[in-house]
Amino acid sequence: MVFHPPAWVPQLPEIPDSITVGEFLSNERHGRYNLDLSRSPYTCGLTGKTYTARDVVDRTECIARSLARRLRFDPHDGTEWDRVVCLFSLNTIDYIPLTHAIHRLNGIVTPASAASSVAELQQQLRSSRASAIFTSIPLLGTALEAARAVKIPEEAIFILPLPPSETREVQVTGVVPPSIDDLVAEGRTLPAVKPLSWTKGQGARQVAYLCYSSGTSGLPKAVKISHFNIIANILQIAAFEGSTRKQRGVKTQVNLGVLPLGHIYGLTVIALASQYRGDEVIILPRFNLGTFLDSVEKFKIERLYLVPPIIIQMMNNEEACRRRDLTSVRSVYSGAAPLGAELIRSYLKRYPEVAITQSYGLTEASPMVVITSEVDGLVGSSGSVIPGTKIKLVDVKGKEVTSHETRGELLVQSPSVVLGYFENEKATAETFVWDDDGRWLKTGDEVLVRKSSLGHEHLVVVDRIKELIKVKGHQVAPAELEAHLMAHPFVSDCAVIPVPHPRADEVPKAFVVKSNEAPLDDKETALTLSQHVKEHKARYKWLTGGVAFLDVIPKSPSGKILRRTLKDQEKQRLSSI
Ligand code: AMP
Repeated sequence: MVFHPPAWVPQLPEIPDSITVGEFLSNERHGRYNLDLSRSPYTCGLTGKTYTARDVVDRTECIARSLARRLRFDPHDGTEWDRVVCLFSLNTIDYIPLTHAIHRLNGIVTPASAASSVAELQQQLRSSRASAIFTSIPLLGTALEAARAVKIPEEAIFILPLPPSETREVQVTGVVPPSIDDLVAEGRTLPAVKPLSWTKGQGARQVAYLCYSSGTSGLPKAVKISHFNIIANILQIAAFEGSTRKQRGVKTQVNLGVLPLGHIYGLTVIALASQYRGDEVIILPRFNLGTFLDSVEKFKIERLYLVPPIIIQMMNNEEACRRRDLTSVRSVYSGAAPLGAELIRSYLKRYPEVAITQSYGLTEASPMVVITSEVDGLVGSSGSVIPGTKIKLVDVKGKEVTSHETRGELLVQSPSVVLGYFENEKATAETFVWDDDGRWLKTGDEVLVRKSSLGHEHLVVVDRIKELIKVKGHQVAPAELEAHLMAHPFVSDCAVIPVPHPRADEVPKAFVVKSNEAPLDDKETALTLSQHVKEHKARYKWLTGGVAFLDVIPKSPSGKILRRTLKDQEKQRLSSI
């Protein structure tokens, strides 16, 4: 049984398939509404520095000219793979204009987590074939070291400036690379870059972003997201939310941009969809409860885009919230991880005027699949299908689920479902499957469909079948940590699973079979292994759930780790404490 959007959801307009994302957002011809070039799409929440939409167009053009000269990027030569640029930065108001500039040069943007270690960044630079890096001052040391290892020259490293409060304490040794402001200034003196001349449908074939996701299993993989995928999702979100906005008489609003712009949720949902609607996004470099609350008050932010761990922090810090005037907030939009019914209830008890919107998506769908509507809420639901999207559920035997309230793996069909994984045909074939109804994305999430009191179908996410662990909204691939632990001489076998955590939602825990070289003392071994992860991996990947020791890792006859067995054992252990 295929589930469609509810009847009240408006039809999707035609999705442009032959232009870049930046062109789509700055051109009225392409269905862009609320296009007012004097409005500010991006404003710094710490300094108030801002650009108008006209500035964004202008800066994009100048950055493109300067990069074309400095990096010999000729948009009419070769393919987009000749111009892959890595954005390894905290959030700044230049982030999105820069992505438009790279696309203006027929290039690809690969955003890297600002928490990446040298080894992780190196791996992303190598696997994405990046030839240039934009970074911020606090991350420059990591960027330089990773760049050297993959032979990216220093002339191809640039700085995205941050507010002074973020860089004051950072010591930089050596020459500081040119900043994006230098590129803009230089670009003003250079000749224009010849316009792109795309063929019909090129936007649907050409990669715009390479984001990383582990998908249903294994190591993080580069996800090929086209211009068309992103434009489709922007239009889908706008169409779904448009009717609610109309009802509330809202034309444009002020949104919070504190989640990483390099993650697909920050990129598409918070930044690009807001820019499309003519909203203003207040950008914060990173999350800090105090500055987050201050900026809500100062900029009278109306919508908070959050993840559940931030909502938990708000609930646990009532006094800090009470000290600020948060009455401008009309809605809270939560994504990237499940938002529990209990948490929703306690939030609404404290802020009864606020509408809570939950959404479900994944990198492989660029990302949004379902969103809850303010007109038809259902606690525990992740929402209704957005226009242009179809979903269906299959049981463990691959048979289609034909009734409500029955669990199954979620399959998604949508113009926003991505092209596949870069240089990984096997994972692509396993994840993007074909049947008589066309191409479907297998999400690896266990869901059911439930009817609301208004009779609309809602998606409820019940569990995760795939291996993925989500820490504060960040992806952690167990296979990556397992490979890292296996490289340590103290480990002869291991498995990593998620365990619940009060503030981070879930965190990784390792089960280890010790090798003969390991010390007899478990405590000492656990400490060494935790340290081994801390030294090489981003903070959110650390083994916060602990290290436990087993005689043998439970495995299927084919050698697959039986994660479900470990998860159930862990659940039992926790419930007996
Ligand atoms: P990412 O690709 O990093 O956005 O991660 C996508 C995954 O996050 C999904 O496949 C789900 O497992 C999880 N996820 C996202 N949104 C939700 C939600 N509303 N409820 C439960 N899990 C979610």
